[in-house]
Amino acid sequence: MYPNTQLFISGVWRAAASGETLSVENPATDEVIGTVAKAGRVDLDAALQAAQAGFEVWRKTSAMERAKVLRRAAELLRERAPEIAKVLTQEQGKPLAQSLVEANTAADVLEWFAEEARRTYGRVIPARIAGVVQRADKEPVGPVAAFTPWNFPIMQAVRKVGAAMAAGCSVILKGPEETPAACAELVRALADAGTPAGVVNLVFGSPAEISSYLIPHPIIRKISFTGSTAVGKHLAALAGQHMKRVTMELGGHAPVVVFKDADIAGGAKILAQNKVRNAGQVCVSPTRFLVQDEVYGDFIEQFTAHIATTKVGDGLEAGVEMGPLANPRRLEAVEALVADAVQQGAELRTGGKRIGNKGSFFEPTVLVDVPTAARAMNEEPFGPVALFSRFSTFDEAMVEANRLPFGLGAYLYTGSLSTANAAASAMESGMVSVNHQALGLIETPFGGVKDSGYGSEGGSEAIEAYLNTKFVTFAA
Ligand code: NAD
Repeated sequence: MYPNTQLFISGVWRAAASGETLSVENPATDEVIGTVAKAGRVDLDAALQAAQAGFEVWRKTSAMERAKVLRRAAELLRERAPEIAKVLTQEQGKPLAQSLVEANTAADVLEWFAEEARRTYGRVIPARIAGVVQRADKEPVGPVAAFTPWNFPIMQAVRKVGAAMAAGCSVILKGPEETPAACAELVRALADAGTPAGVVNLVFGSPAEISSYLIPHPIIRKISFTGSTAVGKHLAALAGQHMKRVTMELGGHAPVVVFKDADIAGGAKILAQNKVRNAGQVCVSPTRFLVQDEVYGDFIEQFTAHIATTKVGDGLEAGVEMGPLANPRRLEAVEALVADAVQQGAELRTGGKRIGNKGSFFEPTVLVDVPTAARAMNEEPFGPVALFSRFSTFDEAMVEANRLPFGLGAYLYTGSLSTANAAASAMESGMVSVNHQALGLIETPFGGVKDSGYGSEGGSEAIEAYLNTKFVTFAA
């Protein structure tokens, strides 16, 4: 039922030249469910040659044709979504309904970029001399190396591959080794839709070996990475040494500021649902809840009541609202962060423990009065953990919201338009959502500031990352 995953190079699914594979585990059962091919240098060289050849073809393919391929791939993804969702849940753990949303949303992303492909406008710049025409053209940047993580195996990949292909670039995608098969289904849809050989290539292996080979390689012109800030800084530095363009979608630690005039019941419910989405393994997951004194107790009580009733289990089972953490590494990390917060004086309101001894299940957790020095208040928990602290004044809330080097998602709940506007301006973050949880739609910008990275993977900005501007001037 769970497929083994191969490399996809120059239009062919193939084993690694060495025959090496890595095993894939189901985080709900700890069982090995399949394997993924482990690329070595020979495979990477083949992928590089393929990407170069694919780029030569694709850059000359009209935007209309590129759009057609992307749209056809979107249709295939939608048709296959129910099957892909089962694969995704088995390897990553999220509930089946969330996997289905991910596969279908990836189809929306491809359609968005199919349209964007047809709008890569340049401009004509008025000249100083009669008879001169000055043009700013947009051209694809070239073969792209894209590195994507395990939390949204299809979505993280489609945002990069869709934009790159729309712009006329070829791609070597280094997919997530722990969750390879759903990501491979995206590539299969693109291939089956008629993508020419070499335009999209998929490899897996040792992330450090692959990035240290591909990033400096002269064939690669652009790097895009989604993952932790620590790895992002390392890859951005390497890209800098070789003067490669970079997009970095890194970690976050989203503040949620709840003012006393907010809709407490509505906010508590929607935030609790959002906190357990993908077991909190979301870069814009609401994390540091800063609640105004007057409503602190009430908000925590309502939020806790909702989150404590979350149905946790194997994502394949009907009615499950939260699956396991995606790997044992996360389980250990979340356990350690909770233990440290409690040891530093936080009150554990609900959760806080591993569930059972099989699978990486962890209880939805609420920690109250968490001291700023606790590790969880400074490191991205990337798990189902909500951290509460109180504030009395607007300025106090903004100081805490902006305290960390992260600056990705931020949330505000208030009944006052002027408070919302003032806080949205004061937040040092790439995205702010007020009175609802609505970050990550493909038609809106998606990206961070500060240590959360740079570049946008949504909105009309997204395709810019894959385009060069060329100035051309003509004299009559
Ligand atoms: P990690 O820091 O080892 O890896 C994060 C991602 O980077 C993984 O996909 C990994 O394959 C990749 N990676 C690691 N070293 C690499 C290298 N040298 N070259 C290229 N890719 C490399 O940690 P992890 O345990 O996999 O995840 C933990 C942390 O990563 C989380 O706490 C979270 O902060 C972050 N993360 C963020 C996102 C996101 O959506 N921004 C997604 C996944 C993980």
